Amino acid sequence: MLYIAGAGRSGSTLLEIILGNLPGFFSVGEIRFFWQNLGIPDLRCGCGTALDACPVWQAVREGLSHRLDPDDQRHLAELARRFDRSRHLPWIAAGLPAHLAEYRKLAEATAHLYREAARVSGCRVLVDSSKVPSHLDLLLRQNRALDVRVLHLVRDGRAVAYSWSRRQKRELARRRDDARLPRHSLVQALVTWVVENAFARWIGRRASAYTLVRYEDLVAAPAATLSRALGEVGLDAPDLSWVDRQPFQVAPTHSIGGNPLRFLDRPSIEIRAHEEWRQRLSRGSRLALGALAAPSLFRYGYRL
Ligand SMILES: [Zn+2]
Repeated sequence: MLYIAGAGRSGSTLLEIILGNLPGFFSVGEIRFFWQNLGIPDLRCGCGTALDACPVWQAVREGLSHRLDPDDQRHLAELARRFDRSRHLPWIAAGLPAHLAEYRKLAEATAHLYREAARVSGCRVLVDSSKVPSHLDLLLRQNRALDVRVLHLVRDGRAVAYSWSRRQKRELARRRDDARLPRHSLVQALVTWVVENAFARWIGRRASAYTLVRYEDLVAAPAATLSRALGEVGLDAPDLSWVDRQPFQVAPTHSIGGNPLRFLDRPSIEIRAHEEWRQRLSRGSRLALGALAAPSLFRYGYRL
């Protein structure tokens, strides 16, 4: 399986849609929300149907029902909310939860979930855009049987912080029944970007293959960047020339969660740089954010 790791707002939804349209690849979106999202009536699969009615996820649930009863699934949702979070990264990375029976239960059920998704899709590569390093640790620490390869997607932290300061995910707001969720401050968003990327890099290196992909490189040269990244994680790169002919048509994927872009309300999409932050942020904010995250920005090849 191919795990897209990194921080939120890095362009992973676009990447998972492109990858999910390659032959032999099947994108499940942010599958880490599987346990929590089941049974929430207004949530849709990326294919547009209600999550509970999508034939793919119905078949996956049917397969899982031989192992898990509804009470188990509710318990797993609770465990996912408890363990699969960036705030726990220091003790997750230290390996402490691996000693807890409940953590192992969540990891084992998650491995069953991936196997069922692979069986139902019939594809050789599952693309998971869950991103958070906590979920990656869950896959790597407990599920040695899974072949996990990591695409670490990084976008300039200042652009990510700007994006978080502008808007909350509509879908997330609806799920929590609160349309006025607080926006993240620029500094809070930037610190989260630094921490999540540092752990994505550290934990990702335990996977069977790991490579870094910069969103800006993907925008500048989509086919070449993707070919290189897939080759570096040992996957044959199919013909990707269509990605360079923008805008391009893609089919929706059966994604569990992610940016609203996954619903493909527009018939064609293009890869855009989203550089508004350079004009909209004051010079002082840009300098302050750059200074705060300088070591990480340099590590990923960004200039101040
Ligand atoms: Zn679907």
